Amino acid sequence: MQENRNKLWQDMVEPAFVDALRALVAAHVEPNAAAIDAQDVYPVAEIRALARAGYNSICLPAEFGGRGSYRHALAVFEEVSYASAAVGISLITILQAQTILHLFGNEALRRRYLPRFAEGLISAYALTEANHGSDIRSLDTKARRVGDEWLLTGEKSFITSGSAAEFFIILAQTETGVSAFALPGDTRGLSTYVGANSATFGLRNGPHVNLVLDGCRLPLDHLIGTEGKGVRAAVTTLNYSRTMAAGISLGIARAAFDKSLAHARQRKVFDSTVFDKQGIQWYFADMLTRIDAARLLTYRAAQALDTGADVPRLSSEAKLMAAALATEVAGTAIQICGAYGVMENSPYGRYLRDAKAYEIAGGASEILRNTIGKALMEY
Ligand SMILES: Cc1cc2nc3c(=O)[nH]c(=O)nc-3n(C[C@H](O)[C@H](O)[C@H](O)COP(=O)(O)OP(=O)(O)OC[C@H]3O[C@@H](n4cnc5c(N)ncnc54)[C@H](O)[C@@H]3O)c2cc1C
Repeated sequence: MQENRNKLWQDMVEPAFVDALRALVAAHVEPNAAAIDAQDVYPVAEIRALARAGYNSICLPAEFGGRGSYRHALAVFEEVSYASAAVGISLITILQAQTILHLFGNEALRRRYLPRFAEGLISAYALTEANHGSDIRSLDTKARRVGDEWLLTGEKSFITSGSAAEFFIILAQTETGVSAFALPGDTRGLSTYVGANSATFGLRNGPHVNLVLDGCRLPLDHLIGTEGKGVRAAVTTLNYSRTMAAGISLGIARAAFDKSLAHARQRKVFDSTVFDKQGIQWYFADMLTRIDAARLLTYRAAQALDTGADVPRLSSEAKLMAAALATEVAGTAIQICGAYGVMENSPYGRYLRDAKAYEIAGGASEILRNTIGKALMEY
């Protein structure tokens, strides 16, 4: 398998970086990937192991334990999700908190929280509410200034990593519009619960909990950026995390491709292997061509992020293409493996469920098309 991966998949960053990353993923992520999904638990040990090796903070500047590269971060998302997209999405909510703090947070917030990610700090990114999913321009969660504190009250839903998070980014309605806040997990009045809609069939890194903010008090400097400009900060951050989410989908697609190729090469049907049938080779040819194209597009978006560019269109194109592609590749891989693809003890069902869930999470495909359309209008 390793041989196939090296032959087929071009390294998009230095080969030594990819080799070390793959070795760590093989030792610390792959062994529990099926169990994390089956038991729907947050992968604490895996996230801490990745942090210890320096991967969690890789997009941050050196002063915060990183190397200031979203291209390398993308390689991390791709390789980790080759083994487990649940661990991949756990890293996404970490990257979202890092990115909004780094781009929009004041100096005190950045100095206080950013170094902690290198130590394995687990975070969640809470935008969605029961009545506000794709549209977050107005919210029911309120933040009110009382003396020298903010007072936050409301409830968030579908919060990935919320079952284990020690730190939260919260979007709440203030007098002047939606604003973003940094909320430590031990804030009084903050609690989580597993609601009727917390368990998903894909991207199972623990329940996507509801978050209750019952009069949470925060120092004034825990406002991120400018009051009333939280949607801009959150959406800019999503442009970064969408690029990484495309990396998760690419990891899933590559894993499904490699595993089904290995199966097709050894499985005999009639007078040859499954792979020897031309119709099957065409499946692989189409999948390989499209995965290669999606990888180039996604690394192009990451490269643009590394120049400091905002990339709403490119990141939307990358996630739109990679997420749909992963679902398609997972489905085709199952078809190629016949009954072996449908077995509960094979990984294909997990690939398909994770891939489909990422066509919704972090920006549904329709919203991405809207973003691309908007960019065209301004063109
Ligand atoms: C696995 C998973 C993890 C998640 N994790 C988090 C998290 O950590 N934090 C968080 O805040 N949220 C999280 N979410 C919520 C996610 O962000 C929302 O589900 C997503 O934004 C879509 O919102 P919705 O589900 O309310 O769909 P709706 O907004 O109700 O949309 C329903 C459908 O209509 C389409 N639609 C909506 N508006 C338009 C439009 N203008 N034009 C065309 N089509 C449109 C949508 O694309 C979708 O297909 C998660 C969701 C999932 C599935």
